[in-house]
Amino acid sequence: MRVVLLGAPGAGKGTIAKLLAEFDGSVPISTGDILRSAVKEGTDLGKKAKEFMDSGDLVPDSLIMEIMEARLRKPDCRKGFILDGFPRTIFQARELKNLLAKLSVKLDFTANLEAPRDIILDRLTTRRTCCNPDCQAIYNIKNNPPQEDGACKLCHHQTMQRDDETEEAIANRLEIYHQKTAPLIGYYEKEGLLKNFLSLVADDTVSEIKKAISA
Ligand code: ADP
Ligand code: ZN
Repeated sequence: MRVVLLGAPGAGKGTIAKLLAEFDGSVPISTGDILRSAVKEGTDLGKKAKEFMDSGDLVPDSLIMEIMEARLRKPDCRKGFILDGFPRTIFQARELKNLLAKLSVKLDFTANLEAPRDIILDRLTTRRTCCNPDCQAIYNIKNNPPQEDGACKLCHHQTMQRDDETEEAIANRLEIYHQKTAPLIGYYEKEGLLKNFLSLVADDTVSEIKKAISA
């Protein structure tokens, strides 16, 4: 499948991308994961991105497009891809359209994940992420906790609260989402590519998206 996941921070994009990928071998691609790995490894990209990310601001479009063009050209994307956290601005959406035309591939659709604001806030403040750059598994201290000692169940590295999960950074991320990313809903609607999905229970949302893919 070739799907874009759209939705506010905390809408469930990361979890749903990983579950959908298990279904047909499409690769889940998270710009947030790519950027966090770069920050951890201290690469040039990481150095440029870190400050924007810690305060919850967007990383400049030109950097993101460079990363995504290289990523989407990798051979593993031929099976399909699930984009999580990209595009995030109208500029990125237009550039993605050009890039996909160049690569001669078409999106199936954009899945807009919707959840009430109080649920989103609760998810963001209770989220824990595995600090191993190659894993980045997502947990929730209430309904999907890591091991008792706080270690990741998959790779046993420690889990942590991300630097952008302070109350201040969360408020900023939500504000930026409404300003810069929410307009993509209208953009994809005009393109005839928008489908809305309620995102309360991940497994239910995943089966709805699978149904839409096979329809
Ligand atoms: P979220 O849970 O907010 O969706 P992500 O893991 O997708 O978090 O992204 C974390 C941070 O990485 C963002 O706040 C932003 O600084 C940066 N980032 C990720 N994707 C993009 C993008 N497509 N454009 C600009 N910045 C991005
Ligand atoms: Zn892990």
